[in-house]
Amino acid sequence: MSANQVSLEAIGITIQEMDSYINSLSSGIGDPDRQICICGHPMTRHEIFAGYTSCVISRAYCRCAFPIAVLEAVKVKPFRFASTGYGRRHALTKGVHAALKQGIPARWLVDLKCMRCSVTDLELHAAPISSTDKICNSSGYRNVFICMPCIGEVGLIYFH
Ligand SMILES: [Zn+2]
Ligand SMILES: [Zn+2]
Ligand SMILES: [Zn+2]
Repeated sequence: MSANQVSLEAIGITIQEMDSYINSLSSGIGDPDRQICICGHPMTRHEIFAGYTSCVISRAYCRCAFPIAVLEAVKVKPFRFASTGYGRRHALTKGVHAALKQGIPARWLVDLKCMRCSVTDLELHAAPISSTDKICNSSGYRNVFICMPCIGEVGLIYFH
């Protein structure tokens, strides 16, 4: 290849990255502004203040301090629920449900597995974890995908 040969790499991007960007312009997928955190809210709603991360979502108080982008959706508007527990009570589950009902295309950005024991072949739940490392019934200090046996071992804590 001659030194003058035009390449994308020379201007800091791979052809795959550029393909996914061009694709995102038409599909809305491949765009960081469309990424949803494991807490169930858009990544763009997370703010870092004095070294601490928090998630600011209009209808829901969310303590998410460890954001992880887990999916990307063409529209992020459905992802604004509050978590009141794991599984169907979790904001991510409610947001995915709302997005699917509205026919909004979305894809996972992570390999789904239990974040505690790494199983992939058991039913997984999104779960909010308290600062004391129990599964809680409010927004999580952190959030995980977790299998039922691990839920049993970690245990639940209820805040009233
Ligand atoms: Zn959140
Ligand atoms: Zn979050
Ligand atoms: Zn597990």
